[in-house]
Amino acid sequence: MNLKEFFRKTKDKVLDTIFPNDIKCILCDRDIPDNNQHICEKCLKENIFNNGNRCVKCDMPIKEGNIVCDRCTQTHRSFEKCICPFIYDGKVRNAIIKLKDDKAKYLAKPFAKYIYEKLEKEDIQFDMIVPVPSHKKTIKRRGYNPAKVIADELAVLSGKPICEALIKNVLSKNQKALGFQERQTNLQNTIVLTDKNLIKGKNVLLVDDIITTCATIEVCSTLLNKANKVYACAIARTKLKD
Ligand SMILES: [Zn+2]
Ligand SMILES: [Zn+2]
Repeated sequence: MNLKEFFRKTKDKVLDTIFPNDIKCILCDRDIPDNNQHICEKCLKENIFNNGNRCVKCDMPIKEGNIVCDRCTQTHRSFEKCICPFIYDGKVRNAIIKLKDDKAKYLAKPFAKYIYEKLEKEDIQFDMIVPVPSHKKTIKRRGYNPAKVIADELAVLSGKPICEALIKNVLSKNQKALGFQERQTNLQNTIVLTDKNLIKGKNVLLVDDIITTCATIEVCSTLLNKANKVYACAIARTKLKD
């Protein structure tokens, strides 16, 4: 272990001690009296959960009365269903950015708990967990792949194995600046399936941190097409467009 790695691991441990998931609110750092809670009363009163009317396929918030979103109506989806307990906005958005870019690995555990609760509520049955891969350069910069850290926590909660069947071997351009079609092309050929036999006939749970346009999970679930079913999950889904 080099010195840099040593300090990073020590920092993770210190943060785990300061924020042992059940003492501070994961969204605002306020103290919480109840040990089983991860979010304080005040934050719970804000519209943080993705529990309104949603697309049955991609879990995106949609206008009341609609069942499937426009994009899922027009596009074939290779995945069965998406599960995202939170709306990607405000404090939740800030916490996810912290988890992704600020080495706040300790946030994965409580967030995974909310994902798992929703998977159980929706009765999603899966045999294995496949994290959306990150390029090794990105992992080196961040210290970890956030999707893998969430997947690890889901493996603990569900007792199902992790299968790193997908790898990212080409660094793609930042998705944020691109349109829908460009995102799709940008990602294709950057992710590969290592061995189709790993997932053949299985029910796979694909794990990411956030789902915005579904481009990433669409590319991943297309690669996993030898699986029986592919479900996707993430912490949060983009909010309802006005
Ligand atoms: Zn709070
Ligand atoms: Zn949809």
